[in-house]
Amino acid sequence: MSVLLTKQEHEVVIAGGGPTGLMLAGELALAGIDVAIVERRPNQELAGSRAGGLSSRTLEVFDQRGIVDRFLAEGQIAQVTGFAVTRLDISDFPTRHNYGLALRQKHIERILTGWVSELEVPIYRSRELTSFAQDDTGVTVELSDGASLRASYLVGCDGGRSLVRKAAGIEFPGWDATTSSILAEAEMTEEPPLGVHRTALGTHAFGREKYEIRDGKIIFAKEGPIGIMVTEKNVGATTEPTLSDLSEALVAACGTDYGIHHLTWISRFTDMSRQAAAYRKGRVFLAGDAAHMHSPVGGQGLNTGVQDAVNLGWKLAQVVKGTSPEGLLDTYHLERHPVAARVLRTTMAQVALQRTDDRTEPLREIVLELLGMEEPRKRIAAEMSGLGINYDLGAGHPLLGRRMPDLDLVTVDGPLRVFTLLHGARPVLLNFGKPGDLDIAAWGDRVPLVHARYAGTWELPALGPVAAPAAVLIRPDGYVAWVGEGTQQGLAEALTIWFGPPAAA
Ligand SMILES: Cc1cc2nc3c(=O)[nH]c(=O)nc-3n(C[C@H](O)[C@H](O)[C@H](O)COP(=O)(O)OP(=O)(O)OC[C@H]3O[C@@H](n4cnc5c(N)ncnc54)[C@H](O)[C@@H]3O)c2cc1C
Repeated sequence: MSVLLTKQEHEVVIAGGGPTGLMLAGELALAGIDVAIVERRPNQELAGSRAGGLSSRTLEVFDQRGIVDRFLAEGQIAQVTGFAVTRLDISDFPTRHNYGLALRQKHIERILTGWVSELEVPIYRSRELTSFAQDDTGVTVELSDGASLRASYLVGCDGGRSLVRKAAGIEFPGWDATTSSILAEAEMTEEPPLGVHRTALGTHAFGREKYEIRDGKIIFAKEGPIGIMVTEKNVGATTEPTLSDLSEALVAACGTDYGIHHLTWISRFTDMSRQAAAYRKGRVFLAGDAAHMHSPVGGQGLNTGVQDAVNLGWKLAQVVKGTSPEGLLDTYHLERHPVAARVLRTTMAQVALQRTDDRTEPLREIVLELLGMEEPRKRIAAEMSGLGINYDLGAGHPLLGRRMPDLDLVTVDGPLRVFTLLHGARPVLLNFGKPGDLDIAAWGDRVPLVHARYAGTWELPALGPVAAPAAVLIRPDGYVAWVGEGTQQGLAEALTIWFGPPAAA
């Protein structure tokens, strides 16, 4: 929903309506929070190709909100989880979405925008956040059209060049670029060899907007403009790329530019790897590319941003509503900073493996051999698909801090999937023991208690079977906050930490 600036106050303002900002807005709206997005773009159209798909865990996250079918209906299911040198098959992982989904970012954003608009989130389009000031009670945000907004919290989902991050004075340490590539779409007089190629100068690839995945192979349409990716000779360009830069890079890599002409769009990406030193400064948060930037290899950028949003949304909602103390918000950095640090690590490792130096060929071969073995394949695939995320919630049952599997439960109301219980972005306590075993009356206003039976085995990706718990407390983001092993020990503490103090009797 695009609106005129009439209302000046919101509980939360989000700068940036890319995938991260849209997901966060949806999460907050589901929790009943008055949230608005400020977005520079006049509409959701996206010039150029960016992310190309969704990982298994992001599909699960959408399933937890009841919207995964919208994405599945438009994308192509395939074993697209990969690690630089190879594709990793995750069809044996215990999840309903044991695959990735090939779907271009412009479609992902369009679908998310549709969802956010159903939730009636206002989007202030064609204007930028230009500055902000925070005080003890909130944040005042100045916009490029001269208007200002007031909110309790501001979240910078404004991409890699985040103004919010810079204005908040948050450091962005990391590594400068060592490779630079041009991405473009154009007409070519001669047909280039479609697919990915590696030469001594680096990787280049040609494709078309429309494609099908058949037996794991991409079959491009026979007609239409050509999508191009080509490594540049030099790193550190300070101006926007041009047709002549592209032609020059193609001639260097392929000996010809295939008669390139009629450019539709052009952009550049590098392997610069940086991460915000803090994801929070007072009432200001960072999420998505604003908090972490890295090479697109491995396709983890968009997925990490969406999952940042799902981690932050319910916590922010509870603090805004006053059910949880402010301290809950610090767990956002504690949980998500290590996740993106590992994403930087895996992308840098993949860039290193893609180097075209002949002397690195043996290293690539050895990694390939290792990934052909069961344990390494499972471990790296769990990491690359997002299914292996393990928040440090202390020692205990292996489920603690990990994603709750989407089990087929039997309840007094009939069969029910676990993820269905999470559609409203609320927590749930599942009791597999006797009704009456667990007493959470003091949190009854916030945490539903569901008695269920489950007859199957409990299995986690890469870890394998785990002992069946007697009860599990599931957070709104689908991670397990407490595991009951026959007693109520630790339950009150977990409920207080994650969902606020008990209601007075
Ligand atoms: C050229 C390129 C190629 C890529 N290829 C891949 C890939 O192959 N695979 C992959 O997974 N990822 C890829 N990515 C990364 C992926 O696109 C990002 O990780 C993803 O878009 C991050 O989403 P986000 O919402 O955090 O940020 P963004 O998508 O950058 O969204 C930020 C939003 O904020 C808006 N904005 C910025 N500043 C302001 C302001 N001051 N006020 C208001 N609005 C503002 C912008 O208009 C934008 O809509 C690529 C990125 C680029 C640039």
